Amino acid sequence: MAHVVVLGAGLSGTIMAYKLRDALGAEHQVSVINKGPEYSFIPSNPCVAVGWRDREAVTADLAPIFAKRRIDFHQ
Ligand SMILES: Cc1cc2nc3c(=O)[nH]c(=O)nc-3n(C[C@H](O)[C@H](O)[C@H](O)COP(=O)(O)OP(=O)(O)OC[C@H]3O[C@@H](n4cnc5c(N)ncnc54)[C@H](O)[C@@H]3O)c2cc1C
Repeated sequence: MAHVVVLGAGLSGTIMAYKLRDALGAEHQVSVINKGPEYSFIPSNPCVAVGWRDREAVTADLAPIFAKRRIDFHQ
């Protein structure tokens, strides 16, 4: 059994974890380690800064999202 660990749950790490989960069989483990508990859609930061979007609209709690996909998440 392989245990693949993805460091960082930004755009790259999150997509990589999803792709690995889809590509690897259930006997293999995929884990993600991230600095914080939330995903943040970086390209929208300027919109938050000028008040065009709320911070809540561009962030998401990572734990339930990864749990749904059988990806271990460690903050
Ligand atoms: C204003 C703006 C607009 C953009 N528009 C576009 C666009 O239109 N199209 C496009 O393709 N790209 C765009 N980009 C670029 C895009 O946002 C980045 O290329 C992308 O976010 C990089 O993804 P990443 O996963 O490498 O890094 P990030 O998204 O920065 O993710 C890094 C992750 O690693 C975590 N981390 C950091 N340090 C640690 C640590 N020590 N331990 C654990 N976790 C850690 C962070 O918490 C974060 O979750 C834009 C960027 C900006 C700023």
